[in-house]
Amino acid sequence: MTAPVLRVEDLSVEFATREGTVRAVRGVGLEVHAGRTLAVLGESGSGKSVTAQTIMGLLDMPPARITSGSIVYDGTDLVTADERTRMRVNGEGVAMVFQDALSALNPVYTVGHQLGELLRVRRKLSSSAARAKAVELMERVRIPAAASRVDDYPHQFSGGMRQRIMIALAVALDPRVLIADEPTTALDVTVQAQIMQLLKELQHENGMGLVLITHDLGVVAEVADDVVVMYAGRIVERGTAEELFERPAHPYTRGLLRSMPRPDREDDELWAIPGAPPSPVHAPGGCAFHPRCDTAIERCRSDRPVLVPVAPGRASACHLRQEVFDASA
Ligand code: SF4
Repeated sequence: MTAPVLRVEDLSVEFATREGTVRAVRGVGLEVHAGRTLAVLGESGSGKSVTAQTIMGLLDMPPARITSGSIVYDGTDLVTADERTRMRVNGEGVAMVFQDALSALNPVYTVGHQLGELLRVRRKLSSSAARAKAVELMERVRIPAAASRVDDYPHQFSGGMRQRIMIALAVALDPRVLIADEPTTALDVTVQAQIMQLLKELQHENGMGLVLITHDLGVVAEVADDVVVMYAGRIVERGTAEELFERPAHPYTRGLLRSMPRPDREDDELWAIPGAPPSPVHAPGGCAFHPRCDTAIERCRSDRPVLVPVAPGRASACHLRQEVFDASA
């Protein structure tokens, strides 16, 4: 594999709240490679979206605070980069698609204006060239009759079409990395599939690295090359999607896979991991997953497991990682 386009190392982020300090992201490391899709998988509160927002520099600091780590894009650490560098990288280097297109788009401007403004400011295009490019971008994200819809407002588009416009905004400056944070959650199943298909097509066209933030194992199975699984702010397992689905090495991943509806399974009763994710303010000691883990041992209550390789390209943060890995063979 070639060198990563984006490398996050030992990233920790916390928030000061009235209830106490929320340690939202703890020692996270990941790599994004050109042309590959990395899924960051986890339940709500696992730290996956905060990781994405930190990469994009979108968190308000304070109350958020980066307490350790680096985010290196093209040799530049974005954690310590000045405002100008950060602004250049955002959009051209790394761009993001959000879950809710309606609140991300400005309701008072036409979509053509919003696309054109970005191109006028960042690419220094004339008004007419920016408008032509806006239509081109709308065509690129497969919006039918783009030339006649460029002067429409966001509310005049369906949810799926709005999401396409947000994707057009994100890819307007040809980023090398696109982060998509739950990009299909608000959409119905058919439209979800179309949006994922579009993201893959755009990736195929320009070879960008795609980071997919999701809680949806079905989406991961469909599009991801690599996966990191997050729980309580930490990465608990990593590997290629194929291997991880085939042979999980962490009880949490194993539980997620077991709770995934599968038409090939005879017992169609849906299973769920017992309990709920821990409070981000009062995470349990030892392994944060121990109150929900069906294989926990005494040590899990006191000793925090670290991410350790179990096989080439695979790692798990579990005291019983080898047993879990061997048992799922
Ligand atoms: Fe379960 Fe213990 Fe492994 Fe945590 S370390 S996942 S509690 S077996």
